[in-house]
Amino acid sequence: MEIIPIQTGTVRCKQFQLTGASNNLSRLYQILFTQKWGEWMPIYCWLINTGNELILVDTGETAKINKEGYLPKGGLYHKVVQTRIKEEDEVDRQLLKLGFQTKDINKIIFTHLHGDHIGGVEHFSHCEMFVSKAEYALASSKKGSSNGYFKKNWPDWFKPKLIEYEDQAEGVFSKSYHVSIDGSIMLVPTPGHSVGHQSVIIKDKALTYFVAGDLTYNIETLKAEIPDVILSNEESKETVQKVHSYVKTEKCIYLSSHDWNSPEILSKKSTI
Ligand SMILES: [Zn+2]
Repeated sequence: MEIIPIQTGTVRCKQFQLTGASNNLSRLYQILFTQKWGEWMPIYCWLINTGNELILVDTGETAKINKEGYLPKGGLYHKVVQTRIKEEDEVDRQLLKLGFQTKDINKIIFTHLHGDHIGGVEHFSHCEMFVSKAEYALASSKKGSSNGYFKKNWPDWFKPKLIEYEDQAEGVFSKSYHVSIDGSIMLVPTPGHSVGHQSVIIKDKALTYFVAGDLTYNIETLKAEIPDVILSNEESKETVQKVHSYVKTEKCIYLSSHDWNSPEILSKKSTI
């Protein structure tokens, strides 16, 4: 089993999203009015090479975000997120550099459906895809665009498998979904950053990887139990406590989508 980080541009959000806000009112105020931007962060997706198949976790951002009309005009998005990406940064070009073509990919797991995670989906019409049922329901509903989802940009053929976690418990997680029959790759619900956010647990002999998506932006915020939050504070907090407990017990290699340290954590196999 090999896991390879793939960077697709950079992103930054308001500083408070990295360090937390005292309550929902403070959070909303800061989303709308503060100009304190956090540092530029990478946008990673992950290639899992099991030896038998190639699985992507998320597809990164697309350079189409720079085009007029891709994002809704006057929306909240530009107030809270800024992105830098060129066409050569997209996931298809990054895979080529690694010696793979998009057609070589078998499956795609989405941690959630925010634009910087689903942006590269257009390159993979042939793949089996996995999204949590709750995430898909909100993202494809009328409330989607006010929650940071841009369904209008999804390809027509985007019909992912909707996950409800009916497989056995995994540590503190009372339910899971097994992507591989032997249970070496499984999904667990980690709601908070988004309503149907999920994380990927990968077991490779003695090593356990926890691919955390946007649950927290790095290991420090995981240890301090500060979630990456938008509005659903309580659920995020509960999830982060649960994940912190799991990754400590299992001595996981913890990978988040926007942590510059993730490639080093991966190459050194540093555990929590
Ligand atoms: Zn997100």
